[in-house]
Amino acid sequence: MPPPPIIPTRIGIVGLGLIGGSLALDLCAQGHEIWGVSRRDTTCQRALQQSIVHHASTNLASLAPVDVVFICTPISAILPTLSELAAHLTPTTVVTDVGSVKGSLVTQATELWPRFVGGHPMSGKAEAGLTAATPHLFQQRPYVLTPLPSTPADAVEQVTALIRQLGSTLYIANPDDHDQAVALISHLPVMLGASLLHTCTTSPQQTLAQQLASSGFKDTSRVGGGNPELGRLMAQYNQPALLAALAHYQSQLTQLTQAIADSDWNRVESYLTAAHQDRPAFVTGA
Ligand code: NAP
Repeated sequence: MPPPPIIPTRIGIVGLGLIGGSLALDLCAQGHEIWGVSRRDTTCQRALQQSIVHHASTNLASLAPVDVVFICTPISAILPTLSELAAHLTPTTVVTDVGSVKGSLVTQATELWPRFVGGHPMSGKAEAGLTAATPHLFQQRPYVLTPLPSTPADAVEQVTALIRQLGSTLYIANPDDHDQAVALISHLPVMLGASLLHTCTTSPQQTLAQQLASSGFKDTSRVGGGNPELGRLMAQYNQPALLAALAHYQSQLTQLTQAIADSDWNRVESYLTAAHQDRPAFVTGA
């Protein structure tokens, strides 16, 4: 079946950074009209000069004409932004966000704006800000929506249609399930990557280890060296789920440590064999 025709939509994007800028690039390319709002005027001017948006301002009131708003600020600014934005929108406007933690944020955002649909694109990179924005960042990547039972179905459909135009694979989850899942596959790896790096940089063999580090170490440590502000917000806003994931990880590490301490090489190999067998299906979803 051919994809449904694209209905040009007036879209507001608050926070013209990596995610907001990348969304603006792709949605603009699909023929939508984009209103950008960012904290700094220099960012707004750059977005206009680079034709990433059609209109740009530091003032949330400029979003009065739009049909859908994506809030792409750091997590800590999502609710304050929505609180201020609500006074300027028409009642039919749909608001969504891209924050990497959903939990109580979705409930509070829905109290501020009943047509709020929580969202989280599962794509990113280490760099931050508008200069890091990239076309097709969301293509063939998961994009999760976390509507509540009270969320109007037509609001979810409107956001769903835009996400499908990004080429993303759509998932629907409740906010708490989302937070527990991303704690495992996104927030835990950031903390593990950072602690792996610290293990090396605080070791007496730091210099030689660094000289010998190659692609395997780069792969395993990559997400630990990302945007520290984002990592802090993951821990702060997803604390219970991240603590549960860390405790689960520590129990796995304890099992493996014990097998090595016991010189039980069969147990070590079985553990690694299970990981070797499970990984392809886990990472490809096949
Ligand atoms: P980012 O590159 O730092 O961009 C955020 C932008 O928001 C900044 O460039 C800043 O722009 C603007 N901003 C900050 N406070 C603002 C405010 N109060 N009002 C308006 N604009 C404001 O961060 P990001 O990586 O795009 O992350 C944005 C959101 O996406 C976060 O909620 C994060 O959880 C989520 N997310 C991130 C990733 C990832 O891998 N990075 C993946 C999925 C979801 P100026 O100061 O330049 O104006």
